[in-house]
Amino acid sequence: MSDTDHKIIIAVDGFSSCGKSTFAKAIAARLGYIFIDTGAMYRAVTLFALENGAIVSGIVDEEAVERLLDRIAITFRFNPARGASDIYVNGDLVEGKIRTIEVSNCVSQVSAIPAVRKKLVAMQQEMGGRRGVVMDGRDIGTVVFPDAELKLFMTADPKVRAQRRYDELTAKGQHVTLEEIERNVRERDAADMSRAISPLRQAADAVVLDNSHMTVDEQMEWFMKLFAERTKK
Ligand code: C5P
Repeated sequence: MSDTDHKIIIAVDGFSSCGKSTFAKAIAARLGYIFIDTGAMYRAVTLFALENGAIVSGIVDEEAVERLLDRIAITFRFNPARGASDIYVNGDLVEGKIRTIEVSNCVSQVSAIPAVRKKLVAMQQEMGGRRGVVMDGRDIGTVVFPDAELKLFMTADPKVRAQRRYDELTAKGQHVTLEEIERNVRERDAADMSRAISPLRQAADAVVLDNSHMTVDEQMEWFMKLFAERTKK
């Protein structure tokens, strides 16, 4: 049996800004798995749409976004300094440009477009096909990998989440207010839960992790026990 046979798929879904990516990345590093941030892919499409006239003054022209899809090639390249992969669109590094409030304000509308989901879900299934991956998003345990061996559903108090995202953005020098971040977090959750296709919801077999009052170390300790239970022979 090869090493790949022992590796599993870990799906990390949940609400906006509750530290899914940070935690999923830490799990992947601990297990020697590949980390895939699917939110970055929806953000990259949104950025491309903003830069190519398919979103004007915050209004998303869905047909225009759909027409752009064939011109978007998304790739990942491992960045040792970050310990994770950076995202590229048509060969351009966009990692630093996809986490602005402008992208955050439009991404839920873009991610609700069926053709966008179809393209990105197919890519995600291809990337995770060899197992040994930790994939974070909104529909990983329900749609992308419904048979994932371990599914987490992460949540935290919206005020705690807004504060975390605010601290992250202001540390990067972005000028935002806590109020606009909290509004964006709540609006994205509502939009992600109510969209017609692949809405955000907890898979029946997912384990809930509310990390409102937990450090990453505490979450890791909790997770490693769960992982040991699930993977013991
Ligand atoms: O995870 P992150 O907050 O970066 O995701 C940005 C947005 O991308 C989410 O608010 C959601 O609208 C969309 N998304 C999605 N499905 C995923 C991952 C993200 O619809 N699997």
